[in-house]
Amino acid sequence: MTTPDVLVIGGGLSGLAVACKASRAGKRVVVLESAPRIGGCFHSHRTPDGHWFEMGAHTAYNSYRGFLELAETAGAASRLRVRGPQRARFGLLRDGRYDWLTPPKILLRLGWLEAALHAPLGILRGKRGRSMRQYFEGLLGPRNYARLFGPFFAAVPSQSADDFPAEGPGSLFKNRPRRKDYPRSFGFDGGLQAVLDGLAALPCVTVETGAEVASLRRDGAGWVATTVDGRRFEAPLATLATPPDVAARLLAAELPVAAAAAARIRTVVVESLGVVLPRERCWLPELAFLVPVDDLFHSMVTRDPFPDPARRAFVFHFKPGIAREMRLARMAEVLRVAPDELGPVVAQRLVLPAPSVDHAALVADFDRALAGAPLAVVGNWFDGLAIEDCVQRAFAEWARIAAAPRPRDARIRAPAPAAASVGMPG
Ligand SMILES: Cc1cc2nc3c(=O)[nH]c(=O)nc-3n(C[C@H](O)[C@H](O)[C@H](O)COP(=O)(O)OP(=O)(O)OC[C@H]3O[C@@H](n4cnc5c(N)ncnc54)[C@H](O)[C@@H]3O)c2cc1C
Repeated sequence: MTTPDVLVIGGGLSGLAVACKASRAGKRVVVLESAPRIGGCFHSHRTPDGHWFEMGAHTAYNSYRGFLELAETAGAASRLRVRGPQRARFGLLRDGRYDWLTPPKILLRLGWLEAALHAPLGILRGKRGRSMRQYFEGLLGPRNYARLFGPFFAAVPSQSADDFPAEGPGSLFKNRPRRKDYPRSFGFDGGLQAVLDGLAALPCVTVETGAEVASLRRDGAGWVATTVDGRRFEAPLATLATPPDVAARLLAAELPVAAAAAARIRTVVVESLGVVLPRERCWLPELAFLVPVDDLFHSMVTRDPFPDPARRAFVFHFKPGIAREMRLARMAEVLRVAPDELGPVVAQRLVLPAPSVDHAALVADFDRALAGAPLAVVGNWFDGLAIEDCVQRAFAEWARIAAAPRPRDARIRAPAPAAASVGMPG
């Protein structure tokens, strides 16, 4: 067995973005992923006959320069698919009534008098130090926020976005330069996960699924990760790419101050259910997503921007803690089918960060505690949840640990005989 150069714990976008950079630098990488599949929040569910739909992330933009670099490296760029006109159609569901909208129609729903009364002071106050609700209520008025913008913002991170910071780390919307050689918004044949599949297959990258890491310890100049089933993996460099609650647990032994900072990042659980229906059983007009007001779910996302002639897919992102039977009943109600017509249901449970206005300070505390450690810590709980936020954090952390001086004997002790082989070539 050969000791890899880099261990990556967590096989979602962030972990695989680090693996990609390390592989391109000629390093041997082992990615340890607890789930039976890679991807985390990237979850393109695929059926044996080639149909697919997104249980998690569904849209990328040409302002995602780092993600496009990953797609190109993964060999996925040729499978890019432009989102169809359905991308700009959506629904608002309030009190059992559906309002079918397009971006211009949303403006017609705005209470213009209320907005005009609030806008001047709202613009003057700006975004600094304010939450989404404080900023947008100040800009457009509380009624406009509660009726229209609050529910739409909640649909983006699958949780209430009221307390999210209006700008800076953890915020939802950021201005980024666009790459004009790509369409404005897009997906991939087989789903966004095609990009991660390509990264996992890069030279020098080995992925171990079903490898839940239980501890991460320093050993000499390097790191040892031990899985719950007792396998040991060792490398001079490590990357932690898990949700913050797991990161806090794994950091506790070696970097307790960083662990305490990670533990202060709040999280929410999103429980999602996805179904495919024959076209003739669907009553909803073609649309990208549905946003409910005061409902059991935050949003329902469709595959309609990539239409299939025979079937449509619907994924409901539910609030946590609702019994499965209740969720199925609500889905059936919205889709206007009997519960037993829903067919096979795909289920997913994810942990997402829930940033608030103190997020920048929490991240700064964490990064101070991490400074100097030969360990990258990446994820959607630093710059923000968006794909590009994760990729930029991953690139920056790889650059930091790759550039850090290491002792000449950085290669750590040979593994004990009982250690699992990671099957690296060479
Ligand atoms: C429903 C949904 C829709 C979204 N839509 C979009 C979108 O359209 N556009 C966009 O820009 N962003 C979107 N996002 C956000 C974006 O997809 C995520 O923020 C991003 O993919 C997170 O990647 P990550 O690798 O940081 O974390 P994760 O995807 O959470 O990956 C962490 C990985 O670590 C693994 N892990 C956890 N514990 C351990 C352990 N002990 N040992 C080993 N492995 C472990 C997990 O299994 C997981 O695979 C969406 C998110 C969700 C949930």
